[in-house]
Amino acid sequence: MAGPKKQQTEAGIMQNSETKLHKKHKNKQKRKIEEIDAEDVEIEQKLEEEILDAGSTEISKKKKKKKKKDKEGDGVSEKEASERKVAETAEEEVIESIGVVVSGKNVNESKYKALNSFVESGLPEEVLECCKAFDKPSPIQSHSWPFLLDGRDLIGIAATGSGKTLAFGIPAIRHVLNKRKSNTSKKVNPRCLVLSPTRELAQQISDVLCDAGKPSGVKSVCIYGGTSKGPQISSLKAGVDIVIGTPGRLKDLIEMGVCRLNEVSFVVLDEADRMLDMGFEPEVRSILSQTCSVRQMVMFSATWPPPVHQLAQEFMDPNPVKVVVGSEDLAANHDVMQIVEVLDERARDERLQTLLEKYHKSRKNRVLVFVLYKKEASRVESMLNRRGWKAVSISGDKAQTARTQALSQFKEGTCPLLIATDVAARGLDIPDVEVVINYSFPLTTEDYVHRIGRTGRAGKKGVAHTFFTKENKGLSGELVNVLREAKQVVPEDLLKFGTHVKKKESKLYGAHFREIDANAPKATKITFDDSDED
Ligand code: AMP
Repeated sequence: MAGPKKQQTEAGIMQNSETKLHKKHKNKQKRKIEEIDAEDVEIEQKLEEEILDAGSTEISKKKKKKKKKDKEGDGVSEKEASERKVAETAEEEVIESIGVVVSGKNVNESKYKALNSFVESGLPEEVLECCKAFDKPSPIQSHSWPFLLDGRDLIGIAATGSGKTLAFGIPAIRHVLNKRKSNTSKKVNPRCLVLSPTRELAQQISDVLCDAGKPSGVKSVCIYGGTSKGPQISSLKAGVDIVIGTPGRLKDLIEMGVCRLNEVSFVVLDEADRMLDMGFEPEVRSILSQTCSVRQMVMFSATWPPPVHQLAQEFMDPNPVKVVVGSEDLAANHDVMQIVEVLDERARDERLQTLLEKYHKSRKNRVLVFVLYKKEASRVESMLNRRGWKAVSISGDKAQTARTQALSQFKEGTCPLLIATDVAARGLDIPDVEVVINYSFPLTTEDYVHRIGRTGRAGKKGVAHTFFTKENKGLSGELVNVLREAKQVVPEDLLKFGTHVKKKESKLYGAHFREIDANAPKATKITFDDSDED
């Protein structure tokens, strides 16, 4: 499934170069299709599924699979055969430029050339007003705008901080303006919907889209749980163009009949992998079924596990464009110095105190402390405040207003020491976090990689200091792999827990990547922490 591993060596590089690799890839694709005979239906389908997966050029592996199946012989259902027919029409092309892989049908057409400047987009000035602070489109914007502005469905694999909000936000605004031209009715029903897994991310997206839409009069509203429904209902009634929401509250308001999505023809699923991880799949499906059947779909995800591409196959055009910035797999940011310390669980409070004296001496630099459970967030916050630190926390234990306030204080720097749980902090674009301290190790190594990625952003170096206790020993092997891949020091004490990794091998650096089988039981809504995310 995976595309070739790409390291993004230069953030601003967005030259769209059709390389030899592209031609080689096309020839391989051609040969591959010729190899498939009429009876070999299931394998063909597998190949084509993989063609739909961006940039996959592991032809030799596919050939091996094909040979194996040749020996075994196989049948195919009518449904599979017809699905195959759809996929057969998908002719994939691949464009590669440094750090970016674009794949999908007809992606090489000249109209899809990546943009080198904002002006090249041909968008009106008022739409580009919000980009004035930037020199040029970021790689994800540069590569995805030509497709999105042409109305194509798109899958974006890009991390928070890559400029992905405007990558879908600007085309969303343009979509609203186009719809306005073609429909002069005064009543404004939402035309665009952005689904986000967490309230904080929804608010962040909403802040960006409210600002970006202002010059052209495009209104956005943020619909999220943990706060009164009244103002959200009033905004919907007054008329909005773009709804940004978390699945639970949105579904509530749809069921109350106050949020009508029947005119929504531009849908964005942001952090789709997280949305499914959090067990929101039923809500997402139900919400999508309320939108126009003819719609443009955009899906952003930090990773690309099977449940996410299943969702894409179901709700998107059979030939979506896929733009991968960086890697489809999760790799630790190499700008972050990772320090792992093995200690007794009970020693953590004292050790945290000592680390803050080291890392937060000035009390002005931003330090983010991660914990696992919401109760732990409140406890660590109180413990630190008792010891004379000024700390705030965001977790599901807090009222939404308190969470929003804590986050603003942290962002503005009025309280630069924040205690957060994974759910609350995921996807947030927090500038200049100097140090991340993992007070509790997360439940998965992917969360570890996400956590430490809150620092070392925008070309700056960061430090991630992690407490690892014997209770976490099941993840020692995976953590060792992450550290080794990033060429970090692996402490002897960590190695003592063993380097065995039970899970499947990751394409990048061994088994830390959690492969999720498409047939695996569906996630249920998280109950241990921030379970009220709706
Ligand atoms: P994201 O969370 O991926 O939307 O990234 C948001 C961050 O990217 C914000 O700090 C923006 O100011 C920044 N950003 C968005 N577009 C650009 C651009 N074209 N050039 C530089 N920074 C950008």
